Amino acid sequence: MLSPHSIALLPEHIANQIAAGEVVQRPESIIKELVENALDAGATSILVIAHKAGKQAIHVIDNGSGMRKEDLILSIQRHATSKIKTTQDLERISTLGFRGEALASIAAVSHLEIKSRTSDTDHGWSLTIEPLQEHVLEPCQTEIGTQVIVKNMFFNVPARKKFLKSDMVEFRHISETMYRSALGHPECRFTFYDGDSLVFDVPQSDLIGRIQALYGKEVSEGLLEIDHITNDVQISGFIGLPHLAKQSRAGQHFFMNTRPIISRSLAHAVFQPFEHLIEKNMHPFFVVNLTLDPTKVDVNVHPQKHEVKFEYERGIYNAIHQAVSNALSKAHVIPEMQFRQQIADQPFERLSILKHQDHSNTEASTYVNRLTGEIISRNVQSEVYHRSETGTVTNQHRTAFEHLFGTEEPLINSPNSDIHHSKRVLGSIWQLHAKYIFLQSEEGVMIIDQHAAHERIIYERSLKALNEQAVQGQTLLFPIPLQLFPEDQLLFTHIRNDLESLGFSFVEIAGQLQIQAVPFDITAGTEHLAIQDIITQYREYEQIRPQGSRDNLAASMGCKAAIKAGNVLSIEEMKSLVHDLFACEMPGVCPHGRPIILEMQLREFDRRFGRTS
Ligand code: ADP
Ligand code: MG
Repeated sequence: MLSPHSIALLPEHIANQIAAGEVVQRPESIIKELVENALDAGATSILVIAHKAGKQAIHVIDNGSGMRKEDLILSIQRHATSKIKTTQDLERISTLGFRGEALASIAAVSHLEIKSRTSDTDHGWSLTIEPLQEHVLEPCQTEIGTQVIVKNMFFNVPARKKFLKSDMVEFRHISETMYRSALGHPECRFTFYDGDSLVFDVPQSDLIGRIQALYGKEVSEGLLEIDHITNDVQISGFIGLPHLAKQSRAGQHFFMNTRPIISRSLAHAVFQPFEHLIEKNMHPFFVVNLTLDPTKVDVNVHPQKHEVKFEYERGIYNAIHQAVSNALSKAHVIPEMQFRQQIADQPFERLSILKHQDHSNTEASTYVNRLTGEIISRNVQSEVYHRSETGTVTNQHRTAFEHLFGTEEPLINSPNSDIHHSKRVLGSIWQLHAKYIFLQSEEGVMIIDQHAAHERIIYERSLKALNEQAVQGQTLLFPIPLQLFPEDQLLFTHIRNDLESLGFSFVEIAGQLQIQAVPFDITAGTEHLAIQDIITQYREYEQIRPQGSRDNLAASMGCKAAIKAGNVLSIEEMKSLVHDLFACEMPGVCPHGRPIILEMQLREFDRRFGRTS
């Protein structure tokens, strides 16, 4: 039997050391806390120097309010804070710090020196703390504000010290935090040194100016502003166009009432509208500020305050989703921007659909009356219209199509206009290895991936059918029995209505479900297989992205019904495909984010053949 142990309160220095384990994990955590303190003190300029990735020394200097002598002594006590006084305060925290344990924790595991001076005195005070030794407090000459120097981190906790990573890794953590702090507070100047070398020195600015100062012009010019307000939250900031997406999440920044936060779920709310615009495994760049009533969020759920808990997480998710969707659809320029990254020297430039357009008042053309959907549609009615920014239909017929093919006249809704137009502007059109369509554009030659193009067309058309107006399919002469795998049956019931909006229809004959009609995109003879394929594909998409069920269905439809590489197309079919493609909202990228069109410029041919003109 175990003998009873006597309980004793821990001496304060040990209690502090334990608490330090939560707050101070690595040099980066110290820097984060010190920068937060400087910001809470109203600093407009903060200098951070990390020596040997902060392992050797950390130096943070601010021009904030500073501390009086008495406060300086108190500041290093655990649970000493000037930021909250009552429980109510805890429920509406507006400062970055509030736990009153950062300085105490830092002091418990390192050598700490703080110099501070307030504006009402002509000298400051310096406090030097080394664990288990008498604190030294003495007057000193120093600027208004506070300087903190941390040395020999973890000198008394060797186990922790051992777990620190290489300088490179530790510095990367610090650097991420510095970027994040600088993004969260553009109103404050940040100067950041890695030892002797300057990493950045960014002046006071607004958010876009700060982004440019930190990431350069290429990034700041590839941004869309977001701005959305609901009852729960106000959302502002910037999202990067698809070409700025990265394989890591390093370019993703959320701030909740200026506090940097990490949230997988909210990051998904930004990601989702990008789904079909960027490649799999890519992460869009964003800086999103959420402003909300501090009583509606609990910031005290994580010792390092990285995570927070929202009262209306769902509402905030939806609001962010909406803000991002709005920005993307309003901008309408995604294909173009995505291609900007192309190096000019590359012979094949990805096409920029809108590159010749005046962005301020034109939009890609849209066919109003969507047809049967067959690519073999002989009778394309192309009623092209232009919506001005206010949404009204005007007579300005500068369309993407015209810009590409150089027609002067608008496409008119007359029976012959299509053919007439095609002849005049398309010139010759031909197919390469039953896979790619070549055609002359105003500036050179365009190459279209036939499968990806058709996929885009069907995807957009399906989305429309699902969200706006259901379409009628083609009735089969003889209904085909629908046999589903047992595991697909439930899913089928679930999406049956949506399938019917797409043009499928089903009847029950003598207890057996039969396919009665299918969308025109489905090739005769493949009806049954098509449904099975769509269901399988849909299930796959749903696993990756449970929120977007209609979008998933449209994408599945596009994926399965599109003509394949290997299909030989007639001239008419190719023309029709090209027409339909340019009527799409985003002709440049397929629903999986791959390019659909490449363009090779005439001047590039000239250059390569040694012609000067
Ligand atoms: P918290 O920030 O949670 O209050 P800290 O241990 O980080 O706890 O700091 C304790 C207190 O010391 C703060 O509440 C603040 O009053 C004071 N303080 C710390 N750093 C600074 C600074 N750079 N400028 C002015 N006051 C500071
Ligand atoms: Mg603090």
